[in-house]
Amino acid sequence: MNETKAFDPSTKALELLSAIVDSSDDAIISKNLDGTITSWNKSAERLFGYTEAEAIGQPVSMLIPKDRLDEEPKIIARIRQGDRVDHFETIRRRKDGKLIDISLTISPVRDPEGNVIGASKIARDTSALKQAEKTSRLLSAIVDSSDDAIISKNLDGTITSWNKSAERLFGYTEAEAIGQPVSMLIPKDRLEEEPKILSRLRNGERVDHFETVRRRKDGTLLNISLTISPIKNSNGIVVGASKIARDITERKRIDDEIRRANRDLEQFAFSASHDLQEPLRNVKIYSELLNQRFRHHFDGEALEYLGYLYEGATRMENLIRDLLAYTAVGEVSAAVEEIDANAVLTSALKTLDSVVAASAAEVTFDPLPHLSMRRVHLYQLFQNLIGNAIKYRAKDASPKIHIACVQKNDAYEFSVSDNGIGIAPPYRETIFGLFKRLHTTQEYPGTGIGLAICQRIVEQYNGRIWVESELNKGSIFRFTIRS
Ligand code: ADP
Repeated sequence: MNETKAFDPSTKALELLSAIVDSSDDAIISKNLDGTITSWNKSAERLFGYTEAEAIGQPVSMLIPKDRLDEEPKIIARIRQGDRVDHFETIRRRKDGKLIDISLTISPVRDPEGNVIGASKIARDTSALKQAEKTSRLLSAIVDSSDDAIISKNLDGTITSWNKSAERLFGYTEAEAIGQPVSMLIPKDRLEEEPKILSRLRNGERVDHFETVRRRKDGTLLNISLTISPIKNSNGIVVGASKIARDITERKRIDDEIRRANRDLEQFAFSASHDLQEPLRNVKIYSELLNQRFRHHFDGEALEYLGYLYEGATRMENLIRDLLAYTAVGEVSAAVEEIDANAVLTSALKTLDSVVAASAAEVTFDPLPHLSMRRVHLYQLFQNLIGNAIKYRAKDASPKIHIACVQKNDAYEFSVSDNGIGIAPPYRETIFGLFKRLHTTQEYPGTGIGLAICQRIVEQYNGRIWVESELNKGSIFRFTIRS
């Protein structure tokens, strides 16, 4: 009898069925018509957190959140009629109280006579799916409401998505753009940009704030800034790219206007300073002549006034000289050339010879590089920074100045360090402004233009200049020149 049972095909079928139920990824539960749980598979345990022992014999209502308890009688009524409930999307509660989105399929279970005696439920966790849907809805809302044009394309350059702002910016509707080559947006003389961008994307690189020109449907050209990122599939392979295009036409126009206004202002400053030199020279010469030839006619007070006149004219002369040097930074006609920074430093030091000697300064330097820039610019940088290092020396120590240079990525970073009076942190940036000084001319002579000149020079080489310093602790001025 036992032997026959072992080969009974219906037993085999049953075992197979229960193996399927157990290995299913969906929770499979059965219950009788009064709602008591009668079977509970492994996935039900995983999904709801109750073990089989905890669940069997319990009311199925323990899985239903309070505000959904009315669902159960309705489902049972349909099952009693022999109906099946398909993909019913609802929410259930886990043992730990957490709510989960699930999709239920419920079928009646019948006895051999065909009477409905219970129900089997298949429950699938749709939380991840729901979350993904929510995220993708959110993302598409963001993309649609963005002020920037957001476009995606595949690796052969065919447009695959096109948001509202792309329509506004380029004038093509979504229907007109999708499936078209992205090259329809590129002016003829810039067509070579696209293969370069595509090859960077294929390597997984991102292209950031690439300023270029694109063509609208009506043929007009726009200045845009593009940020392009590779789109990867789930295996990490680059399959396309997303482009964010920002219209910078207005910004470019304002930039151009500012540049023009600056140029005009500089031209004015240059002419005014230039034309002021001549009368000023006369004031100086004649106050000097008065002093030399007629001083015996003057009393002490008149001589004192004459002194102020001469001093004022000299200060103004220095101011004009420095202003001219400032405006000249952008006007230098000399070409950028390969220069030896060691030689430029030597000639700047020669000019400073007398102040170096008078202050007993000790100037040391590391070997400096050869680099591409205008000789006069590096000369002015050294002259201003070393001149300041000597001028703003500490009272109780002779100046020690060191000049060095290191190469960092695509730039040379020069440094001029001193052991002078230092600069209090709040002024570390202001001192680079035109006419900005921290002392009176009585304390230290000067015009407040030297560092502004240095700043203008380094900006011409896409570099920057800054100072590391604290009061009474010396200063390190650093500047970079892009190579
Ligand atoms: P100037 O020396 O003619 O006043 P600069 O533009 O060269 O003008 O410098 C601006 C100000 O920065 C100076 O007035 C001074 O207060 C401060 N400064 C510049 N270099 C140094 C330095 N090496 N140490 C301390 N302070 C400095």
